Amino acid sequence: ATMPPLLSAIANAGRHGVLVKSAVVMERLGQVDAVALDKTGTLTEGAPRVTDVRPLTGAGVDGSELLVLAAAAEHPSEHPLARAVVEAARERGLGLPAAQDFDSTPGVGVTATVGGRVVAVGAPARLLDGVADTGSARAAAALAGELEDDGRTAVLVTVDGVPAGVLGVADRLRPDAAATVAALTSLTGGTPLLLTGDNPRAAARLAAEAGIGELRAGLLPQHKVEAVRELEDAGRKVLVVGDGVNDAPALAAAHVGIAMGRAGSDLALETADAVIVRDELATVPAVISLSRRARRLVV
Ligand code: ADP
Ligand code: MG
Repeated sequence: ATMPPLLSAIANAGRHGVLVKSAVVMERLGQVDAVALDKTGTLTEGAPRVTDVRPLTGAGVDGSELLVLAAAAEHPSEHPLARAVVEAARERGLGLPAAQDFDSTPGVGVTATVGGRVVAVGAPARLLDGVADTGSARAAAALAGELEDDGRTAVLVTVDGVPAGVLGVADRLRPDAAATVAALTSLTGGTPLLLTGDNPRAAARLAAEAGIGELRAGLLPQHKVEAVRELEDAGRKVLVVGDGVNDAPALAAAHVGIAMGRAGSDLALETADAVIVRDELATVPAVISLSRRARRLVV
């Protein structure tokens, strides 16, 4: 028997390294006319590296202590930034004490108790919201701003609620990011939208490099959902591509959600309608084209 076109398309997508979970999803891919891309781990390689370790003067910790506290707190997290912090401590041969009471907030950061001290690691703007407006808070904000102006993601570390220092992290654009953006732009007749929880300065630099014309930064998971709903309310069929726990609600809200498989979080993989198994972003426009061809055969 000859296979129905949508099933052949699923098999074809599989050969491209994309696991499409159903025929309905395969069909929906061809209807997509707007694309929203996550930044960290989706448009970027998701293998960020710590480039700067900046303890605040007067905070009572040096660079190594700052890194040890941050890495111990980040150790249980699967976030790409957390892996970068842990790796930086390892590279410097620093041993990590055990952490207790680990907790994480998607789009914000983590907290844990390390050696009896409460350590928080995460987005400076979010963490500084809950910190008194002291000299050290202002110094931390200034330091974070400096790093962000250099295109870095700034990560704030507080100890017992007091800013202790800032880490600078840098991630690279995926090698196929610009070509993928160009292909998606021509398939959907408009630039993809970048949705990120990261700071606007690092995001703008990366968007420009990738050829993306529109971006929203500093977003919490629910803000990504709102951005998708706005487009859908305007009659668009939105494809969301993401990798993180923070992307799961937007992946669920989208007409089609695709997760990055290799380093994607379990929640993103379960929530998504399709999974990029081989870690190539360029397979996204490829599966849209496959769907459009299959739909022409079905109709
Ligand atoms: P994106 O939307 O670009 O994938 P996320 O929503 O995952 O980014 O994270 C947004 C911001 O929240 C990060 O840029 C970082 O500042 C902060 N953040 C989230 N999780 C962590 C973590 N485990 N460690 C440090 N910072 C974090
Ligand atoms: Mg991400």
